[in-house]
Amino acid sequence: MIVKFWGVRGSTPTPLSPAEFQVKIKKLLTLSNKVDLSNDEKVDNFLNNLPLSIRSIYGGNTPCVSVEADDTFIILDMGSGARPLGNELMQKPHYQNGGTFHVFLSHTHWDHIQGLPFFSPIYNPKFKLIFYSPFADIKQRLAFQQQEAFFPAKLEDIPCEKEFRIIKDQKIINIDDNLKVEWKRMVHPGDSFSYKITHNNKSMVYATDAEFYKIDEAFMEEVSHLWKGAELLIFDAQYTPEEYINKISWGHSSTIMSVDIALQSESKRLVLFHHEPAYSDELIENTLSRAEEYLATIAPDSSLKIIPAYEGLVFEI
Ligand SMILES: [Zn+2]
Ligand SMILES: [Zn+2]
Repeated sequence: MIVKFWGVRGSTPTPLSPAEFQVKIKKLLTLSNKVDLSNDEKVDNFLNNLPLSIRSIYGGNTPCVSVEADDTFIILDMGSGARPLGNELMQKPHYQNGGTFHVFLSHTHWDHIQGLPFFSPIYNPKFKLIFYSPFADIKQRLAFQQQEAFFPAKLEDIPCEKEFRIIKDQKIINIDDNLKVEWKRMVHPGDSFSYKITHNNKSMVYATDAEFYKIDEAFMEEVSHLWKGAELLIFDAQYTPEEYINKISWGHSSTIMSVDIALQSESKRLVLFHHEPAYSDELIENTLSRAEEYLATIAPDSSLKIIPAYEGLVFEI
């Protein structure tokens, strides 16, 4: 499986502001003072050794992750990150004659569906989107966002082929012989759903908009059993531990809670996801360091890797 991140920010799209851009540039110029940058290679070398928060951005698009498994293309959520994903797909020779995308939406809060009207393949009849959801009214929910008052093109009028598969009575979805998806309801206002994708016996979990606080033991056991040994756990780590205290019951977890569930489920890699829109790139890195310290304190022998999600991040599983 190839897993790629197109949108990693929670709640609302968060473009870098001009002031934030200037701060980055200033830091970069200060650090480059007295560094030999006389050719391209030296410039690349200098940049590659800087933290991502200085040389680049984590990104402001809302959730969208693609998963390619052999010939099957899965899209997890269609936040504003679905726009650049759609544009790239349209450029690929593989899709010149159209194609089918399997879409699993965690839920229908805006930040997880707002990219759908801007996903360019939907305006071409050669493409097909299959939406899988435990929400029985998923079609109506998506159509609602494209009512005339909100968007000029109605969902029913867009030319791609659309299919809606309600999976509320089906815990395991076999997309093909070697590829299955299992869902689990998460604790989140209005509900959200996590998805575990298994391909050739290797699995990854996408669990965003999930609050793991005062979780009853039976639920925790069920979740850690279902997710056990995942190669990749993409988890809602919206808040710092301090901020979380003021955001209890908002439906999101903290970085510390995400380390706990990664350890409990014996996941191999934890991706911190759904970054708080108010957080700077430096704060995301600072939160990562604290999550790593916490891991080293409670599980010093653990080989768990923690990676903060950023746009363009790719994993091969
Ligand atoms: Zn969200
Ligand atoms: Zn939500």
